[in-house]
Amino acid sequence: MTSNKRELLIMKFGGTSVGSAEAMNTVFEIVQQEKLEWKNIAVVISAVSGATNILLETATKAANGNEQVIVSSVEFLKQKHFEIIERSIPDETLQGAVKEAISELINEFRSLCHAMFVLGETTPRALDAVASLGERMSVRVLSAIFVSKGIPSTYVDATELVVTNNLYQNANPDFAATTTKTRAVLNPLFAQNMVPIVTGFIGATVDGITTTLGRGGSDYSAAILGAVLPADDVWIWTDVDGVMTADPRIVPTARTIPEILYSEIAELAYYGAKVLHPKTVRPVIESGIGLRICNTFNPSHPGTRLVASFQGGEPTQMERIIKAVTTIRKQKLVTVEGRGMLGVPGVAARTFAAVASTGTSVPLITQSSSEQSICFAIPTAPSNDVITALRTEFSKELANNDIDGIFASNEVSILTVVGHGTKNTPGIAGLIFSKLGDMKINVLAIAHGSSDVSISLVIDSSDDEKAVICLHDLIK
Ligand code: ASP
Ligand code: MG
Repeated sequence: MTSNKRELLIMKFGGTSVGSAEAMNTVFEIVQQEKLEWKNIAVVISAVSGATNILLETATKAANGNEQVIVSSVEFLKQKHFEIIERSIPDETLQGAVKEAISELINEFRSLCHAMFVLGETTPRALDAVASLGERMSVRVLSAIFVSKGIPSTYVDATELVVTNNLYQNANPDFAATTTKTRAVLNPLFAQNMVPIVTGFIGATVDGITTTLGRGGSDYSAAILGAVLPADDVWIWTDVDGVMTADPRIVPTARTIPEILYSEIAELAYYGAKVLHPKTVRPVIESGIGLRICNTFNPSHPGTRLVASFQGGEPTQMERIIKAVTTIRKQKLVTVEGRGMLGVPGVAARTFAAVASTGTSVPLITQSSSEQSICFAIPTAPSNDVITALRTEFSKELANNDIDGIFASNEVSILTVVGHGTKNTPGIAGLIFSKLGDMKINVLAIAHGSSDVSISLVIDSSDDEKAVICLHDLIK
């Protein structure tokens, strides 16, 4: 008998989706349901909600001389995990075994924090060892729940699968090495009809030292595994109904976008939509794998599908080309201006080198063709440091009046309108500006994404909610 089940699905569940006994039970039910449709499923999960923050904060506080915090965090983590275990695993032997596994990891946490307390410092490598414990705990609990409820399952630490460089706290995977290891570990489990529960977020160097892929990196883990196995589909289960047209806290009529291009989501992820780790998209596009974002707490909702191109032709109406409106808040616009800049090569390079020297990243840049000013956005927090670095870099030009001014604006917000073809469709910019004009909202700077899928505007932060609400009206 041939089955018409699809081959392999990766499902990733975030911290809130595994944050309680009820949530973990829901994850079990979702997997059980999908098992009817798929031959093999691998589950990737985050740490239980809040755990990663507690782990990292405790380590940092311990290194700063606070020993007491270790005791309270140990207690908190133990309680959080034990409660889920007690409420979900009736069999006492299994319950005892999982509790012991969790206690061992918590002891490791205590020792690591204690070492940092004694040394009075943390290192990125040590922080990765600490941060990895959250996922290492959650997978042990969830796989025991699966076994207890009758789905054959085992946990897998991704240190056995994902090989990375040693850029601790933001490590990059080596896809060739990861392919070999992942297939060698997971394929035999699939052959035994097991559902592996894999830690998101973590990997290891070739020497076996634990690394992490960056905060929020579990989405990326799922994409990496999807790409190297390869899977047919990767589904990211979170606590909202997919990607929304705007932040529903600002725009009550915001709704789910049923289908979105990879290029559009990349722009949204970058601009802080928080639904998907920005690195998630690339491995799945490159291997032609389907990606879906759905809601653990509303599993019948179809969520958002990510597609490489629109099926059945591209949308033709101008209105439909606007997909979403997002903001990045707490920014300042920095201007470097002066007549002496005209035609002088190297001013932009020196400007951005000075900004980079403060460790600040620049989300938006504009320069007019007169070359008499460069203007860019940076987060408010480092703005004083950035201005100081720029004034030092250009002290000579300032003294000679080749550069007249280097200054930061009041607090601004960057508003991004995302949609395929915002560039090639005549009238989109006009539509946006006349809407803002009607609302008497002043636009301070504009940047057009060269990817064709976004227009970003800088406005005074006091106007941002009003602007998002009125531009959201353009989404049909
Ligand atoms: N647990 C990690 C974090 O909180 C990774 C993740 O949740 O994606 O950053
Ligand atoms: Mg996340």
